[in-house]
Amino acid sequence: MNLILLGAPGAGKGTQAEKICEKLSIPAISTGNILREAMANETEMGLKAKSFVEAGNLVPDEVVIGIINDRLKEDDCKNGFILDGFPRTIPQAEALDSMGIGIDKVIDIEVPDDKIASRLSGRRVCLKCGATYHTLFKKPKADGICDSCGDKLVQRKDDMPETVLDRLKTYHEQTEPLKGFYEKKGILRVVEGQEDVAETTALTFKALED
Ligand code: ADP
Ligand code: AMP
Repeated sequence: MNLILLGAPGAGKGTQAEKICEKLSIPAISTGNILREAMANETEMGLKAKSFVEAGNLVPDEVVIGIINDRLKEDDCKNGFILDGFPRTIPQAEALDSMGIGIDKVIDIEVPDDKIASRLSGRRVCLKCGATYHTLFKKPKADGICDSCGDKLVQRKDDMPETVLDRLKTYHEQTEPLKGFYEKKGILRVVEGQEDVAETTALTFKALED
């Protein structure tokens, strides 16, 4: 199954991508994680992306389209994939169409803006393996240490309150129109994000069957 996860920053796309990945054994592809890894390794692409990401702006379409074009050609995508954080603009969605890749379902996770700030301020991430935690809702076993790989957890610069408002504005202006784009194709499924991760996951799995 070829899937897209849509939703505001902090809606829970990465969290649900991980659950679907376990259930269906298809890779979860996060353009945000790929960009953060490139930034940490100071590659040419990482250096180019850094100022956009840290200011809460979108990285230029051609950069992320290039990332996805390369990644979807890899062998592990043959039986399906989950896109987390791509597409984020109409031109990105059109580029995906023109790659000739059919999308089966788009799961849109809806969380009101006033709940987003607390989710993002408590988010902690592992830059090595991409795992995500929360200081209240998803604590690691040992404080500040990744359960999966043992690396230290950090707070993303773009999760600071002053940047979050800019990211939400960008989401509403540039990404939300994708709901209409995929609704017209009849493949949009809306999940109301719950306070509890397990409840949200149950709704996500149900949406996969609709
Ligand atoms: P996104 O990938 O959409 O930006 P994440 O999956 O990283 O969002 O989730 C943002 C933060 O909120 C993380 O710290 C995550 O652990 C937490 N979170 C995710 N889903 C829920 C939920 N249903 N209830 C509470 N917190 C959640
Ligand atoms: P995320 O981890 O999905 O929250 O993404 C973090 C940041 O990476 C975003 O705020 C953008 O700056 C950048 N980014 C990730 N995916 C895209 C995309 N599809 N288009 C443009 N910028 C992106």
